Amino acid sequence: MASENAIDYDYRSVDDETGLKDAISELKGKVAERKALLAVDCEGDSLSRKGALTIITVATEEKVYIFDVLKLGQLVFTSGLGEILEDKSREKLTFDCRQDSDALWHQFKVKLEGVLDLQLLEVIYRRENPTAGSTVNTPRFSAANTRGGRRNRRSQRPDEVERINGFGRCIELYLQDEKLTKIKDKGKRLIKLDTKVWTRRPLTDDLIHYCTVDTMAMFRLYNKMKDVNGGEQARLRVASEKYVDLYRGKTERSFDEYETNAYLPLDIIPDKGTLDFPAANTECTGCHRRFPREEFSITQLRKGGQKCRVCKEIKRLEDVQKHREDQWKRAEEHVYIPEGMSDHAWHYGHEPWEKPWENSWRW
Ligand SMILES: [Zn+2]
Repeated sequence: MASENAIDYDYRSVDDETGLKDAISELKGKVAERKALLAVDCEGDSLSRKGALTIITVATEEKVYIFDVLKLGQLVFTSGLGEILEDKSREKLTFDCRQDSDALWHQFKVKLEGVLDLQLLEVIYRRENPTAGSTVNTPRFSAANTRGGRRNRRSQRPDEVERINGFGRCIELYLQDEKLTKIKDKGKRLIKLDTKVWTRRPLTDDLIHYCTVDTMAMFRLYNKMKDVNGGEQARLRVASEKYVDLYRGKTERSFDEYETNAYLPLDIIPDKGTLDFPAANTECTGCHRRFPREEFSITQLRKGGQKCRVCKEIKRLEDVQKHREDQWKRAEEHVYIPEGMSDHAWHYGHEPWEKPWENSWRW
């Protein structure tokens, strides 16, 4: 079944075998003749090696293909798409490829390669343009921090812990396109209301638009940011190679805060002017990744509970949260809850049966 042009972009929704054959040969043609850059994005329910991967969107700058993996299963990949995804020389834009790649490998034996990850490119861009995304804390990745010019051991440089931005936030910050943001927001709301939304069929128009907009926005983001990397394209490639394997390469996943959080894992993007990483021999007890010994303080190492700087920050935030909850509980014991108001309403500002978000989300 082919659907065309309900919005500005040409797209094709693929959910039967004939359509699949057609779409793959069309896509292969485009890829071969123009050496086209691709954008790839997966959707599902708790997408990872454990959760379901139900949709994969693959796009060129001109056309978006939305493959129904829930319906077609492994066939989507054995029909030729797997080959494209595994081809190292075929560059693919992704935005945070970690879960997609984990799911593709552990469920479909497809090893995603040739990735240029835009979440990483945005960090590189932000380092070079400290005013971009100024609401985000910008670490001092300045001259003092170039390799060789560093004074302290790594454990003493907590300012190098950087936040990563979500895709929606990047669209807001760098593309400033209201229409795009609206479609994206609408999709997000649908997903929030129903976490199984990607497992229901038929896919609604809103969700198809969401897939289309996602991949198209990747090209725009890339075109805006790629030059900042000036001549250092290889650095983004090396970083993306590490990122794409970060979850996939684990024997076992923990699915905890130390594994998935809003910070850039350390030693993913090589230092400016380099393409390698310092030798790693000591394991962090939080994320279980290995780092140079100087990542950890002497005291930590002596006690044996050493955590990398990112995991230290996660632990600190957890402690703050726990402290807040303790205080809350203590305050609660003395608090007066107005008559007719339930505990729930006192905490959340509305009764359980009232759904204030439905009003504010209606538009
Ligand atoms: Zn760690």
